[in-house]
Parts: sequence; C-alpha cells; structure tokens
Amino acid sequence: MRVVTDPAAMRALSRRARARGERVAFVPTMGALHDGHLALMRRGGAGHERLAVSVFVNPLQFGPREDFRRYPRNTRRDAGLCRSAGCDWLFLPRARSLYPAGFATTVDPGPLGSRWEGAVRPGHFAGVLTVVLKLLHVVEPDTLILGQKDAQQAELVRAMMRDLNVPGRLDVAPIVREGDGLAMSSRNAYLDSGQRRRAAGFARALRAAAGAARAGERSAARLTAIARSTLRREARPDGVDYLALVEPRTFAPVRRLDRRSLLIAAIRIGRTRLIDNRFLNPGGRA
Ligand code: AMP
Repeated sequence: MRVVTDPAAMRALSRRARARGERVAFVPTMGALHDGHLALMRRGGAGHERLAVSVFVNPLQFGPREDFRRYPRNTRRDAGLCRSAGCDWLFLPRARSLYPAGFATTVDPGPLGSRWEGAVRPGHFAGVLTVVLKLLHVVEPDTLILGQKDAQQAELVRAMMRDLNVPGRLDVAPIVREGDGLAMSSRNAYLDSGQRRRAAGFARALRAAAGAARAGERSAARLTAIARSTLRREARPDGVDYLALVEPRTFAPVRRLDRRSLLIAAIRIGRTRLIDNRFLNPGGRA
C-alpha cells in the first residue's frame, strides 16, 4: 500500500493504472475507521483492480459549534486497517493542499441540501459536495463507493455527479451495524456506556416501524409515531432533530407507504448526534 499526500501524485498513480486498463474504486472517509468503512473497501476490492481510500477530516463540512477539533483521529491505526482491507493507495491530503490560500469556490447542493441534515447543519452539504468533487478530480475513479448510513449525502452526491457531468459511477453500500443494531459510526466513540445502551434503542425504533409496515400499516404519521414512541422509551434521546418517512431519491415526505420509502432520523444523546435510516416496504394488505 502506498501512502500519498500530494494530490498530483495521487492523480498520476490512478491515471497510470487506468491507462493499463485497471479499474479504480474509491472510498472517501474521515478516518477513525470501523467495519462500516471496511465493508465499503471490500466492495471496492470486488470488480476493481485498484482501491484508493482517502482519510481527510474536512473542515469545510463542520459548523462552527460542531466537533471538528475533537473528531477522532488515528492515522496509524487507519493505515493498518486500510492495508489489511486490500487498499492500494491511502490518500492523506493536507488541508492546505485541498484548501489553498484564496480558496473560495464551493458546490451549491440545491434545495435538497437545506432539508433534514442540511436544515440542522447549515452549510454542511456544500462542504461535503465540495470536498467530494475535489477528491473525485484528484482520484478520477471508475467507481465511487459511499455508505447508505449517510443516505442524504449519497443522494446529493448522485445528483451532483449527474448535474455536473462528473464521470464515474456511484455505488451505495448497505449500513453495517453493531450486534445490537446501532449503525456503526466514528462518533459512537463519544458515547459513555449508559449512552451506548440507549443508542441501541435508536435502531430498535426504526425496526419497530419496519415491523409495523410489514404488518400492513401504511400511514406515514402512524409509522413515525411508532418509531417515535419506541425511541422515547428505549433511547430517551436528549433531542430528536428529525424523524420522517421520505421518498428515497428526492427526500420529499411521503404520506402513505405505497412503495418502498426511507425512514430517516437524527437524534442527540448527550452531546453526540446520531443519524440512521431504514427502508420500509409496504406489506400485508392496505
Ligand atoms: P465518514 O468517515 O463517517 O465520513 O464515512 C465515510 C463513508 O463511510 C461514507 O460514505 C459513509 O456513509 C460510510 N459509512 C459510515 N458508517 C457506515 C456504516 N455503518 N455502514 C456503511 N457505511 C458507512
């Protein structure tokens, strides 16, 4: 595995490989790697001769009162995990090489960028799309691999690639969960043991709604009420930023579960923000 910090060197490696006819997969991350990230890497390993992984805690996507400074960083451990997952190139750009003096140009995510996550975190998706576009220009992968964990992010990246003629395909990998259902996240490390137990109730709340959907419930109001009551009882969140049933591509709210829809939610446990989502399928009889 090569560790690369210079964007021009990263691009040269990828271009040479592609000129040889090798296919390149790319997994962008913010590090503090866990099994969710590793599943994305394994997915990249299949069907591609080369796998690039980036680790970069992107300052542009954090709000002024968010956790940029305390976000977990452990490059040495991350490098070991990348190596064992079959990564060929670990790209570790320095902030000043991605954001040179005078940097001013950003991507406008459009209306979806200010809904749900974007409403709670103003400017977040502009920061995400800007860094993803930059990384895509550096790595020039055949396939970009993102996780369903950040469902709205994945749809915004899909829209950006379509709208801005970005070459390459997007592959979205399923959510990897802990044994008790909690979606893996680098931020789970912030939770103390009591909070960690409560956090498992978050996934159970989404599962309760999925169970009700399977049993035939189609009212979005009732499905979200079921999730909310399980959430209150089992996770006792310190805040619920949003909990909604939406159309999986546009994230527009749906009133009835007539086709596969996405239940999305963000909660706070202590100072830690957790997000999760689950596809609900209409079941039973209407
Ligand atoms: P992050 O390092 O949190 O920015 O995440 C990097 C990529 O890994 C993003 O595409 C995430 O959606 C994805 N990811 C993070 N956690 C998970 C998970 N539990 N399951 C699947 N993908 C994940």
